[in-house]
Amino acid sequence: MGLFERDTEVYKDRDALREDYQPEKLVGRDEEIQMYQAALQPVINSEQPNNIFLYGKTGVGKTAATKYLLSHLEDDAEQYDDIDLNLIFLNCDGLTSSYQIATRLVNELRDEANQISTTGYPRATVYEMLWSDLDNLGGTVIIVLDEVDHVKDDSILYQLPRARANENLTEAKIGIIGISNDFSFRDDLSPKVKSSLCEQEIHFPAYDASNLKQILEQRATVAFHEGVLSDGVIPLCAAYGAKDAGDARQSIDLLMKAGDLAREEDTSTVTEDQVERGRRALERGRIEEGISGLTQHGHLVLYALLTLDLENETPVRSRDVRPRYTRFTRLAQRDPLVPRRMRDHLSELAMLGIVSVTERNEGRRGGTYREYAIDMDLSLIISALDDIITEVGVHDSLSSYLDTANEPQITGTLADY
Ligand code: ADP
Ligand code: MG
Repeated sequence: MGLFERDTEVYKDRDALREDYQPEKLVGRDEEIQMYQAALQPVINSEQPNNIFLYGKTGVGKTAATKYLLSHLEDDAEQYDDIDLNLIFLNCDGLTSSYQIATRLVNELRDEANQISTTGYPRATVYEMLWSDLDNLGGTVIIVLDEVDHVKDDSILYQLPRARANENLTEAKIGIIGISNDFSFRDDLSPKVKSSLCEQEIHFPAYDASNLKQILEQRATVAFHEGVLSDGVIPLCAAYGAKDAGDARQSIDLLMKAGDLAREEDTSTVTEDQVERGRRALERGRIEEGISGLTQHGHLVLYALLTLDLENETPVRSRDVRPRYTRFTRLAQRDPLVPRRMRDHLSELAMLGIVSVTERNEGRRGGTYREYAIDMDLSLIISALDDIITEVGVHDSLSSYLDTANEPQITGTLADY
C-alpha cells in the first residue's frame, strides 16, 4: 500500500466548503436578490445599464450574489439577438490606485499580444486606451469592481460611470457594479462620485443564526456524506457565526475545520466537540494574527497585564497596570506613553477579544471605572508575545508559570521588579 490512501469517509466534496465554490442557489437573500435583479433588468431590455453599488460586511453574500445573478444574466441574454453582453470581473484587493485599475481593465480587454505595461504611461493615455478598447468591444459591458474599498483615489470611480455622459464612449454601453465591505467607504466618496457610482444602492445585512443554518444545511448536503454530521453540528456553527459577525464565510470555515478534525481523528461522524475544538483552533489563528498586528506598545501593555494576571492581581484598573507597563517599557528602552494612550491600547486589546473589561461603580458618590483581565488562553498569548518577552526579559511570574507549565523556555533576563 502507498503512503497516501484516498480518504472519503467524511466528505463527499470538500471543495464545496472552499472560498472559491459558487453555490447553485442563494438561500435567505430573496429581497436583496430581487432588488439586484431589478437593477440589472435594463441590460435585458437592451437599455443603458444602471450603475449599482453593493455594500455590507464581509461574508454576507455580496460576491456570491453578484456571480449568481451575472451568470444568469449572461445565459438569459443569449436568447436576444440584439444584446451583446460582456462581463468583466475585477477584484480590487491589491489594486490601490485608479491607474492600476485602468491598466488592469485595458489588459482584460486586450489579447495576450497587445498587453500594456502597468507603469510608465500618463494616466490620461491609459484612459484613452480604455475608452477606445471599450468602444471597439461595443455592446453592453458590465464591469464589476469587487472590494472597491481598496481603491484610494476616486478618479476611475468618477470616470467609468460617466464615460458615456462625458462622450468618452459612443459605442459601448457600460454599467459599473461597485462592491464594498466597508461602510464608511461610501460615505467618504465625493458627492459627484457618489451620485454616479451609487445610482442604485443595495445593502446586504449580516446573517442571523437561522439564515446561517439554512446556508450551512444547503452546503453540507453537497460537501458531506449523508448522516455524517451529528444533529448539533450545524446549529452550533450557525450560532457561533451569528455571534461573531453574521458572516457566512466564518461559519462555513468552522464547519470545514470540524470536518477536517473528524477526518484526522478518523471518526465516522462529525461531533459538536469537534466544532468546539475547531473553533478554538481558528480563534487561535485569529488571535495570533491580531497580536502580531499590534504596535510594540500594545505588546508591552499586554505583557504587563499578563504578568499581573499570573500573580492573580486581575481584574485590575488601568492605573494599576501602569507601573508595570512603565517599567517594561524602560526595559525595552522606550519611552512610556501617557496614561490615556496606554488605556487606548487596553481598549484595543478588549476589541480583539484578548482582554475582558468590567465596568464598576465607585461607591455612592458616583463615577464608574473599568477593570481589565486576560480573557484568553495564556499559552497562546505567551507564544504570540515571544519577541517582546525576549526584549523585556522574563518576569518572575512568567518564569514560575513556565516552570510549572513545562513550556519551552524563552531567553532573556529581567532585573528584579
Ligand atoms: P462577501 O462577498 O459579502 O464578503 P461572499 O459572497 O464571499 O461574501 O460569501 C461568503 C461565503 O458564504 C461564500 O462561500 C458564499 O458562497 C457563502 N454564502 C454567502 N451567502 C450565501 C447564501 N445566501 N446562500 C449560500 N451561500 C452563501
Ligand atoms: Mg466578496
